[in-house]
Amino acid sequence: MKIVLFGPPGVGKGSQARFLSQREGVKHISTGELLRKAIRSKTSLGRKAQQYVESGRLVPGVLVRALAEDSIRENGFDRFVLDGYPRTIEQAEWLDEFLKAAGTKLDVVLSLQVPAEVIIDRLSKRRVNKQTGENYHLDFKPPPPDVPAHLIIQRKDDMPEAILHRLEIYHEETHPVQAWYRDRGMLQEINGGDSFEDVYERIRAAVLASSQTS
Ligand code: AMP
Repeated sequence: MKIVLFGPPGVGKGSQARFLSQREGVKHISTGELLRKAIRSKTSLGRKAQQYVESGRLVPGVLVRALAEDSIRENGFDRFVLDGYPRTIEQAEWLDEFLKAAGTKLDVVLSLQVPAEVIIDRLSKRRVNKQTGENYHLDFKPPPPDVPAHLIIQRKDDMPEAILHRLEIYHEETHPVQAWYRDRGMLQEINGGDSFEDVYERIRAAVLASSQTS
């Protein structure tokens, strides 16, 4: 099971990937989470990446490439769901070469789609448990009362200016990656606008079907 979950920020990739990972025992590799961890731990990578992440810009590809490739390698090139990588055509080419060199390839790229207004609502009302990485939504999935309030934060890149920046970058640099995968017959589009459970079932069905055919 080698999957990329693709789509704009706020589409639900992270929550779906985390759930898929728990249910199906696949490794969830989120370059965004790895970067935020590096920033919290103040590693040299974290220091280089901090400004980009907090303002909603893309971190230089070479830094992210190493994070993604190391995680895939550590996991034996099998059973992973990538979330947030690749984000540019260059990164898609790197990933393709990296997997090819290991004698393998992706099963499928699932592109989650939701209307723009839903994305803005999800991002601006998103809150995160800074210890566990669990995501909440102020209206639909508020943080439970037993989680201490100081652990619940709003990501700096979920502030209004950074949201607009991230959506612009998505349209300019990341959206073209979808056509790149479509041209190679690897893309499957998933309607991500319904309930979490309905979307998860679509993802799961697509993943199982692709694992059987590849
Ligand atoms: P995410 O958690 O996937 O929304 O990622 C948060 C931020 O991490 C992004 O806005 C970028 O600044 C950075 N980032 C994550 N993945 C990548 C990537 N593949 N390429 C460049 N920057 C990335």
